[in-house]
Amino acid sequence: MARTVFVNGEYLPESEGKVSIFDRGFLFADGVYEVSAVVNGKLVDYPAHMERLGRSLAELRMDWPCTREALDAMHAELIRRNSLSEGIIYMQVTRGAADRAFNFPKDKVKPTLIAFTQPMKLVDNPNAITGVKVVTTPDLRWARRDIKTVMLLASVLGKQEAYEKGCHEAWMVEDGFVTEGTSSNAYIVKDGKLITRGLSNEILAGCTRRALFRLAKEEGVEIVERKFTVEEAYAADEACLTSASQFVMPIVEIDGHRIGGGQPGPVVRKLRELFLAEAGA
Ligand code: PLP
Repeated sequence: MARTVFVNGEYLPESEGKVSIFDRGFLFADGVYEVSAVVNGKLVDYPAHMERLGRSLAELRMDWPCTREALDAMHAELIRRNSLSEGIIYMQVTRGAADRAFNFPKDKVKPTLIAFTQPMKLVDNPNAITGVKVVTTPDLRWARRDIKTVMLLASVLGKQEAYEKGCHEAWMVEDGFVTEGTSSNAYIVKDGKLITRGLSNEILAGCTRRALFRLAKEEGVEIVERKFTVEEAYAADEACLTSASQFVMPIVEIDGHRIGGGQPGPVVRKLRELFLAEAGA
């Protein structure tokens, strides 16, 4: 069955969902996006995603495409029309379509809003049982990684490098320190403490990271917000990544170095369990 997608206020069969070739998202990557998980037909961490969307739009001086209530209704309607039980909703807002010029359009243009669903196995993800492998790669991105823009070429190249090396994710490295994954936040566990880079313009403030912090605190797991080096990661007791579509994902190998004997460790397994319980799995 073809999906129903959302394009500028209309619900359409996916083959009919189209945007202008003059759209600034297409020409300049002048747009932002959010990905929210759906478990048992319910959105996970949705308010945090909408809060971050508002921040991304404000940082790029872009208008909201519609009211927050209309966005909520759009998410609910896409779940309903596509009978989505488990998967993700992708939504994107761009500055709209206008004659090509780098500066913002002089006349007011309507932002473009599109959204679609993608069914995925999030809860019983087999990767979570085995754990995944990551490689490290230089961080080639710009200086405003805190804004969730669709300008993702460095992440595309990093992820492709990981796949070509038989790995699941690439951890990007700047000045010897891990920043984050190409589409996830990065953590190591040492002596029972969860270590991850603090928030700044150098990484995206993950919504799953935020939820994980709350769950870890409730569980009594100490969090240390600081940079860690690649060498520290090789010597970690455990490692993991977080994102809306992977939740808390154990890592068992970094650049060929086995972590925790090559098995997901107890701290990460517990945190994933807690996350799944809260997501209503
Ligand atoms: N960091 C980057 C670069 C990302 O692209 C993502 C998600 O796509 C994340 C972190 C994780 O963010 P979230 O947990 O909100 O999905």
